[in-house]
Amino acid sequence: MVMEHVTALECTICGDEYDPDQIIYTCPEHEGVKGILEVKYDYDVIHDIFEADLDGVIDSQWKYEAFLPVHDDAEIITLNEGGTDLFDAPNLSDELGVETLVKDDGRNPTGCFKDRASSIAVTKAKRAGREIITCASTGNAAASLSGYAARGDLDCRIFVPGDAPSGKLTQPLVYGADVLAVDGSYDAAYDLSVEVTEKYGWYNRNAAINPFQVEGKRTVGHELAEQSTARGKIPDWVVFSMGDGCTIAGAWKGFREFYELDYVDDTPKMLGVQAEGASSIHDAFHKHDDVDDVADTLADSIAVGCPRNTIKACRALEESGGTSLLASDTEILEAETLLGHTEGIYTEPAGATSLAGVRRALEEGIIEIGETVVINSTGFGLKDTEGARKATSGVTEIDPSLEEVQNLYSGAEQA
Ligand SMILES: *Cc1c(COP(=O)(O)O)cnc(C)c1O
Ligand SMILES: [Zn+2]
Repeated sequence: MVMEHVTALECTICGDEYDPDQIIYTCPEHEGVKGILEVKYDYDVIHDIFEADLDGVIDSQWKYEAFLPVHDDAEIITLNEGGTDLFDAPNLSDELGVETLVKDDGRNPTGCFKDRASSIAVTKAKRAGREIITCASTGNAAASLSGYAARGDLDCRIFVPGDAPSGKLTQPLVYGADVLAVDGSYDAAYDLSVEVTEKYGWYNRNAAINPFQVEGKRTVGHELAEQSTARGKIPDWVVFSMGDGCTIAGAWKGFREFYELDYVDDTPKMLGVQAEGASSIHDAFHKHDDVDDVADTLADSIAVGCPRNTIKACRALEESGGTSLLASDTEILEAETLLGHTEGIYTEPAGATSLAGVRRALEEGIIEIGETVVINSTGFGLKDTEGARKATSGVTEIDPSLEEVQNLYSGAEQA
């Protein structure tokens, strides 16, 4: 049984094509893991089998199964990922001075965007008869993959950097994964996961090098296209934070597909935001030559020194007419509390990075008054409460007496 709608895996560097039915991660013509592959589709076939109404009602990303690179006979491993809300954000919009909407991907089953990809990874690993699945992660991919591995009854072994937030490591442990904390950076954990994949034949979910993973991330683009059309307006900007760069690349690919198939009549500009301390994609996009591959930011989910998907991410920015910019850790934490205060949406620092980027883009005149902006909250705030707490005014300690409360709230604000 073949995947009739998937035609090839194409190298993003040399254009060589590979058979989508073999398990291959990167083009062997280039050193290391540089030759990232892109999944190519036959859109006539997809258009013929895709029958869903684009009415804005989305139960899960599997509404777009016709677009996903899985075999017809595959057992789909799902926890109902995707189908996340696109919220109006009236209070935030007032604060910013532009109409802003929030796509809340922190509501995915394990609390982050990556579930869209993990569902595909475990579905494919199982179809290929693999029993062990692995990945390297700054935290969220680990938790996400572990949950889906449990759901699909696969063994899961994950490599995390030694300094990953402990909250993020409890989650995969609860899901039953082996968590291997590597004494080193995310980049070191990443290289090790690639080595074991080559040596032992474990299935590797690493989003940047497993060409099928990004494909699950496309569904956020499909959803945004569908939800915006249902609202009657395509946004001017869609904003994502960037770590490896797969998320923004996937989102753009999904949106573009719907545009090319005439399901929507316009496309947004993509704005990619990185932390100042982990700025490689931004540097590459703007052709800075001071490229620095050390990652230093409290937004741990995007603390990537050597992004694996720079080419795809830069293409998304370029093709969409968008751009990239940076945000400082202070701005990121301020944005996290701003989103919480204004809309009751609790995002983790990497999710808040998109909002921090919007504030900068407004200051710099990149986003103009009158435009519409969608920010994506890629991860749920409860995953890492330590960092955010520093940006709040903290807990007020009081004695158990009415007088203390009275002292706090005396005067005009009382009652
Ligand atoms: C992984 C992650 C990102 C960045 O995605 P990339 O594909 O690495 O660019 C952003 N936000 C959160 C919460 C993530 O977990
Ligand atoms: Zn190649």
